[in-house]
Amino acid sequence: MLSPSARQLHRLISAPHVIVSLDGTIIHADAAFAQHINRENEELTGRSLADIAVLPREAVVDQIFLFSCSPEWIPARMRLSAGDGGEVDFPCRGLLLAQASGNDPALVCICLDERLQYQLLRRSLQAERMVWQQANFDTLTRLPNRQMFQYRLEQEVFSSGRNGATFAVLFIDLDEFKDINDTIGHAQGDQLLKEAAERLQACVRKTDLVARMGGDEFVVLLSQVKDLAVVDAIARKILESLVQPFNLSAQPSYISASIGVACFPADGETPAELLRHADQAMYAAKASGRNTCIRFERELEEKALNRVQIARDLRQALSEGQFTLVYQPVIELATGRVARAEALIRWTHGERGPISPAEFIPVAERNGLIGRIDEWVFNEATGQLRVWREFVRPDMVLSINCSPLAFSSLPRTDGPSPWRARLDELELPGNSIVLEITEGLLLEAGTRVSEALSKIAREGLHVAIDDFGTGYSSLAYLRRHDIDCLKIDKSFIDTIGANDSGTEIAETVIAMAKKLNIEVVAEGVETQIQHDTLLRLGCDYVQGYLYSRPVSAHEFTAILERGARLGPWSEA
Ligand code: C2E
Ligand code: MG
Ligand code: MG
Repeated sequence: MLSPSARQLHRLISAPHVIVSLDGTIIHADAAFAQHINRENEELTGRSLADIAVLPREAVVDQIFLFSCSPEWIPARMRLSAGDGGEVDFPCRGLLLAQASGNDPALVCICLDERLQYQLLRRSLQAERMVWQQANFDTLTRLPNRQMFQYRLEQEVFSSGRNGATFAVLFIDLDEFKDINDTIGHAQGDQLLKEAAERLQACVRKTDLVARMGGDEFVVLLSQVKDLAVVDAIARKILESLVQPFNLSAQPSYISASIGVACFPADGETPAELLRHADQAMYAAKASGRNTCIRFERELEEKALNRVQIARDLRQALSEGQFTLVYQPVIELATGRVARAEALIRWTHGERGPISPAEFIPVAERNGLIGRIDEWVFNEATGQLRVWREFVRPDMVLSINCSPLAFSSLPRTDGPSPWRARLDELELPGNSIVLEITEGLLLEAGTRVSEALSKIAREGLHVAIDDFGTGYSSLAYLRRHDIDCLKIDKSFIDTIGANDSGTEIAETVIAMAKKLNIEVVAEGVETQIQHDTLLRLGCDYVQGYLYSRPVSAHEFTAILERGARLGPWSEA
């Protein structure tokens, strides 16, 4: 029954010992062990260790499970019932002797704790253990790796399934870790991962497992969870501990994390299902603004399936020309004149019809297609701009959204940026374009991003911060990065008129921007009150359904040709 390598290993143990599978079945008991407890060893093989232990069955199996989890001999103390009816003390050590492979179960060796003897085995095991260590542990953080985690998860599903216990899988992804690497370099990035690993371990109990799945992804397995509030508390503790500064270089570095939680058995009954669902919940945590924890729910699965389908169909969308652009007028508030437009992408799926960019842009960002989409948008929009400037409006300006990825992956060459190269090709000036980037990009701006920003500033292109106010931009960031324009996020504009906070925020942003010589656009203006308030506050530009929804290039041309005034201005 013992595999050849297990047989070889157990021969090295001279102390009384017994070899059991994870469910406690005795695979082999040596003569000394049988003698120690006053029994015949034939009588022992095939029985459960629990039958002869003076302990509840669960406790025995749990102890075996614990033995199987550590690469070191773990000490324990058992009492065994002897053949003569008495009880025998059995101070012991246990460790995983062989992993499960094919039909062979995982085996644990439990031997009488006679120090010298097990040390002998330890030395012989050392070489084997090194190989095992490398295969199962992450070299950087020394945490169990993906493979080890899988194995532990399988065991946990097995033992919790049997005991009716609940456990939780926490999928943890560091937010924007790539930019950290960019800012402080890979060596320091590694250091940060190591420290993050230590912080994670400090947040959980000894019996819980923290593993590194790769890159900036970690998982935590919280076993024997009696109360789900505990999971929540630990997740919060983890978030709290990761946002503390990392002092790795002259300047402290900051990160946050997004956590997805799946609980056994409610959220999944197999290892694969639990991991997938924890990952889906993590994705939802990212999407809901990061630095947060979300528990899996069935609805997320549908969303995930939808994303998978979107990711698959996006390629085809590019090659089959399913994308178009629409243009939303941006109005100069003081005059009512249509001064610019924001180019917004639209996708008409072959079967499903229109799909919102809010839905597919995040998917494209995750699967790497965003680069090609942004490139398509830029080429298409600038082609259209060229026509408008030549035939309709010589000073027309276009705002074009740009994914953060395009900035952090901009090649460090001396030549022009791809944007500048395209403008040169069309003989368009840099200031005919405003690139809209999100606040997050500035906050985590590594050298790569800063370089890219100053490069495009030198090339004359303008840069706007989109959805301003939803992140954490400070004045310092705006000043440092040559920002030309702020777009106050719709969520703030929405509260103008409803309560005073929106008005206050708009007022502060406008005053601050004026001082810094930065233009302000208010996004998503829908009501007359918002319009009047923004006018009073001296906002430079407005954009929103009150004036116009995004329209086709053709319709926008008509607006320009008519010199039309929109929304409240149309009666003026
Ligand atoms: P965004 O850049 O902040 O664009 C503004 C969004 O608000 C647009 O939604 C626009 O249609 C919508 N909007 C404008 N005025 C109003 C209003 O008064 N009320 C309401 N309820 N909505 C208004 P859209 O086109 O669905 O775009 C959503 C987001 O998708 C954009 O937010 C942008 O982040 C992204 N996106 C759109 N086009 C592109 C693109 O070509 N490239 C990239 N990378 N991202 C894009
Ligand atoms: Mg935008
Ligand atoms: Mg916006």
